Amino acid sequence: MVSRNITFQSLNGSYLFPEVLRRKLAFQQQFPHEKILSLGIGDTTEPLPGVVSQVLADKSLMFSSPEGYSGYGPDLGNMELRKKIAEVIYQNTVDWQEIVISDGSKCDIARLQLLFGSQVKIGVQDPAYPVYVEGSLLNGVKQPVFLPCTPENNFFPDLRNAALCDLLYFCSPNNPTGAVATREQLQELVDTAKKNKQIIIFDAAYSFFIQDEHLPRSIFEIEGAREVAIETHSFSKIAGFTGLRLGWTVVPHQLKYCSGESVKKDWERLVNTTFNGASTLVQQGGIAALSPEGLSEIKKTIEHYLENGRMLFNALKDKYQVYGGTHSPYLWVNVGKPSWEAFDDFLHTYKIVTTPGGGFGPAGEGFLRFSAFGNRKTVQEAIERL
Ligand code: PLP
Repeated sequence: MVSRNITFQSLNGSYLFPEVLRRKLAFQQQFPHEKILSLGIGDTTEPLPGVVSQVLADKSLMFSSPEGYSGYGPDLGNMELRKKIAEVIYQNTVDWQEIVISDGSKCDIARLQLLFGSQVKIGVQDPAYPVYVEGSLLNGVKQPVFLPCTPENNFFPDLRNAALCDLLYFCSPNNPTGAVATREQLQELVDTAKKNKQIIIFDAAYSFFIQDEHLPRSIFEIEGAREVAIETHSFSKIAGFTGLRLGWTVVPHQLKYCSGESVKKDWERLVNTTFNGASTLVQQGGIAALSPEGLSEIKKTIEHYLENGRMLFNALKDKYQVYGGTHSPYLWVNVGKPSWEAFDDFLHTYKIVTTPGGGFGPAGEGFLRFSAFGNRKTVQEAIERL
């Protein structure tokens, strides 16, 4: 028989969110008449911008005519979409040729890890979105350096502890803590990476939730970032594409390995080799999402989620210490007990699904993550129960 890839041994028994779902289903089976409300997994609930659905419908019909049919798209993505992202998201401070379109940023984060091999040392914010650590472990990387992000350090890690790392994963607005890094903090991150010759993998999946124009939405707003950072991004949370699947990654021309070779060149080679491009139809939807009509509908949807967050914050704040929720769809709630125990308490007492903080890393113990993604009725009902 063939032997198992030993890197699987370094993973926990199951990925966080399937375990959340398993417990939810077990509860539902035991109490079939109870109505469970989900404030757990960060999945979008509000409809797509109308202009996106219209384009998807029109373009998909074109596929059934000989003139309208097309097969594989360009490997690195639709040029119009790449240019649109450069213009709308980065105000052309990023060259469209540095943008590669993908089927979502989780997949890109996992693919990026192949660029650096198994010998790199990684530093991650703790708690963090699980794919940074688990994807790296699957790639054979040894024990990551966890950089605790707690209320005591305002959820910004002590970067001195990462001095020996090669890659630094950083996410702002952060999932799960809801913290947003300031310009000064990101400057410190970039300066540290420069000094230590590190590469930052910056996850900007929630950038549209930032409402304060003084807060940076992209690592490339920070001086010097182009020499040390890669940015991953996604249409999932900003435009409701979680099911449609569309994202992108920016690898700047200037980014080099210690050997002086171009990271961008390898990234394109890797994408060409392992991926056949995002759905050509969905990419048309992405172009529509970034049109003026699309952007104005996106703004309303983001405001809806942020209002959910404010309502949840107010409902929880008298009983618990609550963080986040202002420029982010996540609230990080200090429940003062082991997080799976607190998860079960909320499920059994209020019939509300949350996400246990410990699933995001050791420093997440004692916290629950509440998601503000939801329709208003669900959130209102949850608040009444709380
Ligand atoms: N990055 C963060 C921080 C996320 O929370 C998520 C999804 O929840 C992703 C990336 C993945 O996004 P996508 O749907 O584009 O794979």
